Amino acid sequence: MIVKQIWTGNSYRNFNYLIACGETGEALAIDPLDHEKCLKAAKDEGWTITQILNTHEHGDHIGGNEPMVRATGARILAHKNAADKIRGMARGLGAGDVVKVGKTVELEALDTPGHTMSHVCLLSHADQPALFCGDTLFNAGAGNCHHGGHPSELYKTFSEQLARLPASTLVYPGHDYIENNLRFTLSREPDNRRASSMLAELSRQDLERAYVSTLAVEREINTFFRLTSPTVIAKLREAFPDLPENPDPRTVFLKLRELRNRW
Ligand SMILES: [Zn+2]
Repeated sequence: MIVKQIWTGNSYRNFNYLIACGETGEALAIDPLDHEKCLKAAKDEGWTITQILNTHEHGDHIGGNEPMVRATGARILAHKNAADKIRGMARGLGAGDVVKVGKTVELEALDTPGHTMSHVCLLSHADQPALFCGDTLFNAGAGNCHHGGHPSELYKTFSEQLARLPASTLVYPGHDYIENNLRFTLSREPDNRRASSMLAELSRQDLERAYVSTLAVEREINTFFRLTSPTVIAKLREAFPDLPENPDPRTVFLKLRELRNRW
């Protein structure tokens, strides 16, 4: 499996992706908003885009579909419940469905509600697993739930699916928010040394070659995976004085999501 991360440089800070089969040169484009950059990248590599995967139905993820389909004839894949929201959808995905790219690439669809209720992530089971997580998981952050989502569903997705994936899994999110998110982590956990050193290192990174984290790293720097950290809980109590002595992780997650909204 060959992964090409494409930095759009737009104001939403979207990342688009191409996933290609090294044998046949067939490629799948994930959320190809910047269809021109995606098409050029495929052409430069000698790849043929045959499929488009939309992680979810928001405009900054599906906005490149029509020109991309016109240019390539690619089929559009998305969550099975997104058919009424994504024009031209050819295949609806449910949990466990397999997406094949060429001869050598197989990706598993995960049904990951929370940011919206029809959001899928793709998981590759290669030697080093990789997760294409749209707006569910970001580097050092979690998706918001303002536009058709639900915070408790997002918590379930984090705790029952993402938290159980191998630590070595590479994380490929739909946006670059890492700097802002690390600042949020440090506002919640000022003694998180990994987050502060990473913020210093990445503050002027070249997004054409953006840093790619793993779930092991996320477990250290992402507040939404650090729900039992004593510092996170103590700081949270400053904002929510009635927080119980040993709050359950779900409560901590929901309060953090709430604080992040106003942050
Ligand atoms: Zn979105």
